[in-house]
Formats: sequence, C-alpha cells, structure tokens
Amino acid sequence: MSSKTGPDTFDLLLIGGGHAQVAVLKDWIDNGLPVERAALIDPASHARYSGTVPGIISGQHDETHGLVDLANLCERAGVERIEDRVVAIDPDARNVTLSGGEKASFTIASIDTGGVGRASDVLGSSDKLLDVRPIGGFIARWREIASELGGKPLHIAVVGGGAGGVELAFAMRNAKGMEPAPKVALIAGNDGLLPTLGSWTRGLVERELEKQGIPLIEHNAVLESGALSVDGQRLEPVDLVIAAIGSGAPAWPEEGGLATDPHGFIAVDRFQRSTSHPHILASGDVAQRLDRFVPHAGVHAVHTGPVLAANLRAMAEGTAPDETYIPRPASLFLMTTCRGEAIMAYGWLGGQGAWAQRWKEAIDKRWLDQYG
Ligand SMILES: Cc1cc2nc3c(=O)[nH]c(=O)nc-3n(C[C@H](O)[C@H](O)[C@H](O)COP(=O)(O)OP(=O)(O)OC[C@H]3O[C@@H](n4cnc5c(N)ncnc54)[C@H](O)[C@@H]3O)c2cc1C
Repeated sequence: MSSKTGPDTFDLLLIGGGHAQVAVLKDWIDNGLPVERAALIDPASHARYSGTVPGIISGQHDETHGLVDLANLCERAGVERIEDRVVAIDPDARNVTLSGGEKASFTIASIDTGGVGRASDVLGSSDKLLDVRPIGGFIARWREIASELGGKPLHIAVVGGGAGGVELAFAMRNAKGMEPAPKVALIAGNDGLLPTLGSWTRGLVERELEKQGIPLIEHNAVLESGALSVDGQRLEPVDLVIAAIGSGAPAWPEEGGLATDPHGFIAVDRFQRSTSHPHILASGDVAQRLDRFVPHAGVHAVHTGPVLAANLRAMAEGTAPDETYIPRPASLFLMTTCRGEAIMAYGWLGGQGAWAQRWKEAIDKRWLDQYG
C-alpha cells in the first residue's frame, strides 16, 4: 500500500493533494519533514491546476501543462505515497479506510480533497451530462466525448454562470481539433451571469459572448427524459451538457462524525482545524471556515496553503497553530476568452485585453514553477 514497509500508522497524514496541500509538501522539501513518518493519500499521481483547463481545451497549452507531480514532491519531501482514495474516516479512532478496505492510522490528519460533482443531483441524470468535477479527469472525459461525437456540428450547453462556466463556454467554442467549431450556449441560471462580480465586468463578458456567437440564457436548466429544458422550453438540439455549477461535499467526512456546515463541508476554525476534532485540519473546497465566509475557489485554496503548512508544522512540534488566512477584500479574476485575451475583474474594476491574458499566464506560471 505504501512505498515503505511497516504498519500503516503515520504521525501526519495528508489526505488529497489539492491546491493547498501541495504547499505543505513544498514546505517539507524546503524546511524538512517535521515528523518521523508522513504519507499522502491521493488516487492521482498528478494534481491538475484548474486555471489551465480552458487553455488546454482550446489548444493554447498541451495536456501536461498545469499538472503538479505529486509523486515527485512526495519523494523529495520524504513522504510515503498511497495511491488510493479515502472512503471513510473515524476521527476518534484516528484512522481512515481506503477504497479496498485497508486502514491507515494517524496522529494528525489534513484533508484537501476538493468538492465532488453534483450535476446529476441538481440537473437530473442523462448520458449527455458531463460534470467538470472531478477536475482531474475532466480533460480526458472531454477528449473521449469529442472523438466520439466529433465530425458533425456539435451543440454544447454549458450550465453555470460563474467564472468556471464562462471560461468553459469560451473554451468549448474554441475547442482545438473540432471542425466545424461547436455551437455553444451558456446557461447562467436564475441568479444570472457572474452575480458576485461588478456590472462593468459583466458587460465585458456579455459583449465577448455575443462576439463569439454564444447565446446567454439567464434561467435555470433541468434535464428531463434526457432533454434539456429551460424555463419549461426544450433546448434543441443539444449533444452535450457541461455542468460547472460549483461543487458539493463528499459524504464520508460527515458520515464519520466530523462537524460540518449545513451543506456537508468540513467545519473548520480560523486555523483550518476541524471544529469537532482539532487534530484534523481541512482546507480548500472540502472545508468551510466558520469564523468568516471564504468562498470555494482555487485562489483561496492556494493562499491557504502556506498557512496550513505553518500550522501543521507547529502542531507536529507540539505547539499551538497560530496562522490564519485572511482573504483580501476582493479577489482577482482573470477569465480567458480563448482568443488571446482575458477579462479581468477586481472588485468593481474590470478590463479586457491581451495584457490580461499575459497577466493570467504569469500568475499561473509563478504558482506552477514552485512545484516543478
Ligand atoms: C473549469 C474550471 C476552471 C476554474 N478556474 C478557476 C480559476 O481560474 N480560479 C479559481 O480560483 N478557481 C477556479 N476554479 C475552481 C477550482 O477548481 C477549485 O476551487 C479548486 O480546484 C479547489 O481546490 P482544492 O484544493 O479544494 O481541491 P482540488 O484541486 O480539487 O484537489 C483535490 C485532490 O484530492 C484528491 N482526492 C479527491 N477525493 C479524494 C479522496 N476521497 N481521497 C484522497 N484524495 C482525494 C484528488 O485526486 C485531487 O488531487 C475552476 C474550476 C473549474 C471547474
């Protein structure tokens, strides 16, 4: 199960190599492993940096761009790797169960497994439905579908009015290797397009959607008997429905007895500690801070990383954690148009151009280079 022999009991167990947890591995590479024995459990050998997904679909980057090599980071950090997924946790007995039924025990655990797809729960099930989550497998699933359906004009409905839905609509419209170019509609739902961003940015996105021939529908969609309906009207033809509607919580943390918020996300304090079991920390989309609301987004998971690393090191050394992630009043959004430009939003400020695309790439590169 693990790369070293011996009982599977770890001083520190990392569960999921998400955007926050890779910073912990980096800290251990740079500053030394703070415990005798640590392991990372993740079914994937590489973690996908979500910001690069639209650029890969539109052919701006190849598929290896934006992958973080977890196996390599573990090796350099002296961390054992368990290539499997956690399906249950017993926070009192301090162990987790893996998919084959084996158990791994821990003194301290840290969870960063991301959210799970909830598209079929929200929209209804259909073989036309493709959930962007889990993000790690999305590109491979898209490639399979594209080669199955390619060769004829594809009609794609992207459901989701957030930044992920907008970027995926542009990516699908400009998808590499698709001749003729897919026809795409963006269904933003009753909350409308980018409801948390300023009207200036919304205007820029609306104009770009229009320029690229992507109709915007601001009503909820539902799948009934395999067909997509919006506001009681069937949308025809639709070959593929891509759902980017935000993630749900995995069931196992709540089932195991960890305190959660009303949606099932692991409830954590300002030090990322579980509010019910402080020897367990959680970060990224699987967690929810109770002291202040932090939205689920890669940018917050990324910024939580160094805080998590410091708190885990303190706890491993027997001292109290004291670092807190405080989000800035506004977050920077850079949405690629997949035509050489990006649309920027920061608070009420907005802008569009090749400069914004270069800015996005520089930010992505800076983050990825740390783990190269
Ligand atoms: C198309 C798209 C574009 C996006 N672009 C942006 C963007 O530009 N900016 C932004 O801020 N946000 C963006 N997001 C949101 C972003 O993807 C998520 O908020 C982010 O990935 C969450 O990171 P995380 O660390 O919680 O988990 P993830 O990055 O999802 O990582 C979870 C890890 O845990 C592993 N894992 C999962 N389940 C288990 C298990 N049971 N046991 C063990 N390991 C497990 C997985 O293999 C994976 O390696 C985008 C989302 C989409 C869909």
